[in-house]
Amino acid sequence: MKKILIVDDSSTIRKLINYILRKKDYQITEAEDGIDALEKLINTKVDLVIADLNMPNMDGIELVKSLRNNFYYIDTPIIMLTTTRDENLRKTAYDAGVNLFLNKPIQPNILLYKVESLLEEKKNV
Ligand SMILES: [Mg+2]
Repeated sequence: MKKILIVDDSSTIRKLINYILRKKDYQITEAEDGIDALEKLINTKVDLVIADLNMPNMDGIELVKSLRNNFYYIDTPIIMLTTTRDENLRKTAYDAGVNLFLNKPIQPNILLYKVESLLEEKKNV
């Protein structure tokens, strides 16, 4: 079973993503910010990360940079979900190493499809 980490400071958003992904057989771990995510990743290796951009303590960009510097997460698919439509932030996110930058509100079918395709691509590499 594929493992997915959801990182968002909003518990409502985490619940929503969890609910969407529950349609498929994924094992979900939740974290409330970048620091919490890194702590959870010490004990759980995940196949894909869905991260918010704006979070306290450690934001999504810092989290992505940190993951890309970690041997185990160099090429793990990362989807960034955010309300911002700022083009510079989108570029910063891609430069930091996200695979996909999606705007909230979340469209369930698109999220499911993207998650599946990214996991599929990873498998075929
Ligand atoms: Mg947030």
